[in-house]
Amino acid sequence: MSNLESDPREAVCGGRAAVLTGPARDLLDGRDVALGGPRAMRVTRTLPTRGRRMVGAWCFADLYGPERAVMRVPPHPHTGLQTVSWLVEGEVLHRDSVGTEQLVTPGRLNLMTAGRGIAHSEESSPGTPVLHGAQLWVALPGAHRHVAPHFEHHPELPVLSAPGAEVTVIMGELGGAASPAGVYTPLVGAQVRLDAGGEIRLPLEPGFEHALLVLSGEVEADGDAPEGAVTLAGGPLLYLGDGRSELALSARRPARVLLLGGEPFAEEIVMWWNFVGRGHDEIVAFREEWASGALGVVHGFDGPPLPAPALPTSTLKPRGRER
Ligand code: MN
Repeated sequence: MSNLESDPREAVCGGRAAVLTGPARDLLDGRDVALGGPRAMRVTRTLPTRGRRMVGAWCFADLYGPERAVMRVPPHPHTGLQTVSWLVEGEVLHRDSVGTEQLVTPGRLNLMTAGRGIAHSEESSPGTPVLHGAQLWVALPGAHRHVAPHFEHHPELPVLSAPGAEVTVIMGELGGAASPAGVYTPLVGAQVRLDAGGEIRLPLEPGFEHALLVLSGEVEADGDAPEGAVTLAGGPLLYLGDGRSELALSARRPARVLLLGGEPFAEEIVMWWNFVGRGHDEIVAFREEWASGALGVVHGFDGPPLPAPALPTSTLKPRGRER
């Protein structure tokens, strides 16, 4: 999906200054963003948000649905990131400038690595009345942010099971189970599905920071803490800090939650519109490359590409991520 805001705010991320040491329980509210167009989809954006720009290399998180809506996102570019498309319900057709045409369906991973630059479009299938899912971005580290753009579809992902719980490892590694998806920094992305009364203790990497995002239902998280569990429903992101080797999760009724985590991202980055870069001039260059067609052309989409919004009058700059 795309950031379709006509006047996107500068989003700054990164920097070791903001790296937390130790467990935390910060509930960070998302904001509602309309993606535009007729029967527009509404998304809840929790990353980047005020006070928390990244969780590991995860730098963008939109949740949508379940909603009767149409997704129609015209061709638009990305640089310096990976897009992770995860559906709970519905079907979305992805087309990109490296020639991919791939349907994404629930439980399967569509992963697009923009690297030095790619363009793509996304549309829900005509037979899809209800859409429910997540669009997540992972920032690429400096050493790999100029890789050749490519696309991966992973119909089979490793699953960890416990009574009443099922964990699908979408990105990275969890509890010794590794996703086949290509990643460039140590991280994890997993979906935890809990039956009514289900509970599980997730093994975590203490050097990672982690967060939870509920897709459906309500979960009780971190119940081992002296202060008791946090009840988390859809909407906000629960930032958990680092230094945890385990996380208890349970649900009274069926629920689905995403676990995002990773090694704290060491670099300062600038996010503007659909680009991740390192400074103002680079973002200006990306914008000009898109306008000239140098970031790729998507064939097969019935409509014109999205023009980039106007740049802000202020200079885009990478800063510490909690300022
Ligand atoms: Mn996109």
